[in-house]
Amino acid sequence: MTTTPAPLPPPPHPSSSIDVNLNLNLNLDLDLVTPPKPAKPEPLHFPLSPSLQTPQTPPPPLQSLPPLNATSTPDEEALFNEYFRLASLYLTSNPNSSTPSSSTSQALIPFPFPPSPSSLPLQTQQPPIKKRKPRSSDMVRVSSLTVRDQIYFRDLVRRARITFESLRIQITHNQLKAEMLGLIEHQKNSRSDLKASALMADRELWLNRDKRIIGSIPGISIGDCFFFRMELCVLGLHGQVQAGIDYVRAVQSASGEPVATSIIVSGGYEDDDDKGDVLIYTGHGGRDPNLHKHCVDQKLEGGNLALERSMAYGIEIRVIRGIRTRSMAGKVYFYDGLYKVVDCWLDRGKSGFGVYKYKMLRIEGQEEMGTVNYRTAENLKVNPLSIWPVGYLSVDLSMGRETVPILLFNDIDDDRDPLHFEYLPRPIFPASAVQGKFATGGGGCECTGNCTIGCSCAERNGGEFAYDAGGTLLRGKPLIYECGPYCNCPATCPNRVSQKGLRTHLEVFRSRETGWGVRSLDLIRAGTFVCEFSGIVLTKQQSEIVVANSGECLVYPNQLPPRWLDWGDISDVMPDYTVADFPPQPDINFSIDVSRARNVACYLSHSCSPNVFVQFVLFDHYNPGYPHLMVFAMENIPPMRELSIDYGMVDEVVGKLTNE
Ligand SMILES: [Zn+2]
Ligand SMILES: [Zn+2]
Ligand SMILES: [Zn+2]
Repeated sequence: MTTTPAPLPPPPHPSSSIDVNLNLNLNLDLDLVTPPKPAKPEPLHFPLSPSLQTPQTPPPPLQSLPPLNATSTPDEEALFNEYFRLASLYLTSNPNSSTPSSSTSQALIPFPFPPSPSSLPLQTQQPPIKKRKPRSSDMVRVSSLTVRDQIYFRDLVRRARITFESLRIQITHNQLKAEMLGLIEHQKNSRSDLKASALMADRELWLNRDKRIIGSIPGISIGDCFFFRMELCVLGLHGQVQAGIDYVRAVQSASGEPVATSIIVSGGYEDDDDKGDVLIYTGHGGRDPNLHKHCVDQKLEGGNLALERSMAYGIEIRVIRGIRTRSMAGKVYFYDGLYKVVDCWLDRGKSGFGVYKYKMLRIEGQEEMGTVNYRTAENLKVNPLSIWPVGYLSVDLSMGRETVPILLFNDIDDDRDPLHFEYLPRPIFPASAVQGKFATGGGGCECTGNCTIGCSCAERNGGEFAYDAGGTLLRGKPLIYECGPYCNCPATCPNRVSQKGLRTHLEVFRSRETGWGVRSLDLIRAGTFVCEFSGIVLTKQQSEIVVANSGECLVYPNQLPPRWLDWGDISDVMPDYTVADFPPQPDINFSIDVSRARNVACYLSHSCSPNVFVQFVLFDHYNPGYPHLMVFAMENIPPMRELSIDYGMVDEVVGKLTNE
């Protein structure tokens, strides 16, 4: 093995250089645009003639279509009005807001993302404008992307999602704080999602508004999950806040006919019949908005007509499913991939009124659906062997040492390696580093109840705790002091989070692409603690001796890129956002030996577009040179999605990935 400092993951299974967050099967060329235009306009009648169900001759490129009619739908107008109202409310009521409302109109900044590394026709430079522009009617289809483009778009989406989620969490937190201090009145439903998306809209940070994308949205993977419909709008995955069918309106379409692009299936329609790959979807309209019951016949207009036209032209539809889960309060939306409408008819619904029905088939050869993964994972948590009888090497790799069992799965080869290591849930620090003055560090706080602003542990963190009341990390910091054994506060103190250990159901699994990896059976929300990185901690001196004598490959935490900077970064919206610089960045010289004892974190794969990151935390001693390496989620991570961390091998990996 090498004697040079190694990046984190390799021992003992140097995972291949494949980046787990990128789907590398796709090949080359940004092929824009297949437009829907019929050879000749078909009369719209009912029932549909069979001729309408076959795709027409290929239509001309969409770029040649007439310019967009610059009006918004009433829905959009209403939405934007609500944004403006909420945004101004937020900016005037939020005591921590760094952007005074009077300056917002001057604060508009051009799209802040760096230019694409290759020519990307999707990305057009727009000058900053004050009035929000309506969505474009230019339709494009992105059929394949180069690896470089994939990285670019994944990062673009990732950054927008981090901004949205960080804003939302910080708005909620600031609001609760302001309520506590009596600065504002209690709000039952603060809709921080609306506020976050409004602030992003103000800065022109919504994605894919300058092109209407047919089919897959670059940077969004099948299975991605979302907790707010506003986030779907921000990303351009589904542009309607309420309506289930998103479509390009007839007046914006070259053929003069509407074209549907995405639907949301969320169980709201009694006549829907969802069998996964085969879906009978009910059109919209005809319902009493208050009773949610059909009271008149549906009409073949708007989204209903658009879906029928998409069928006629063979246009694929993005399907997003909203489902209720046991652990989350609201609905969770999964992007389940592309479908085609294959049939359409007027039916008598359960209510007795006419409803339009659409039979939709999932296009073959796509990744597994997010909703299927979710259900599989739920069942695996209960009885893994009944779901996958072959492949489980252990139903708890930790042998009861973690609070949650860790599954070990390999159905592709004979490798049983993780079974050969002692499972160590917590790192063992050298005594010299954590005893004596380092143990007490001046003592903990004296709080008798849950800690709050003003407690001495809050002061250690710069006057405020790093977590919200639910234990979500508000933003990444150079170091975090949690309350510890010398504090007087109870175990329920909100400043005790990562020290409580694993709460997420994880599975170590073997894959052909990345060797051993880790995936979650739970839906992990961004900002949540996932696991700690464990092993035998060695001082600098010990490390040198070990490397010289045995050539062991050690893990050096100071070589990890500071990905904590990404989480909570709202600089795109708040230009004077500053990076947290207190408590100061510790000087870290230790290494971690995972050659004999280790935990689940050792199997995390590398990605230059990671979904988890390391945050340094102190709680059981006060030596800043020896913090715990706590792993937090920086995205919403759907069940069965591999967790990935940035070990700082970016150049190497990009080099290999783009070796064209
Ligand atoms: Zn306290
Ligand atoms: Zn406390
Ligand atoms: Zn404390």
